[in-house]
Amino acid sequence: MALSIPLCLFNRHRPKHGTVAWDGRGYVGTCRHCGTDIIRQRRRLWRRIGTEPTNLSD
Ligand SMILES: [Zn+2]
Repeated sequence: MALSIPLCLFNRHRPKHGTVAWDGRGYVGTCRHCGTDIIRQRRRLWRRIGTEPTNLSD
């Protein structure tokens, strides 16, 4: 895992196939690189759960 954490440091993750599921609000999955739980913010843009900008006025 330590060798390949390409964009995870920038909070840009890639879902592992087979882990993506619809949770009622959006697609969630597991990052193939760092293994963290992620949520799809928009097409091809996945953020770590809890860091997605839900309050843009902040
Ligand atoms: Zn990642």
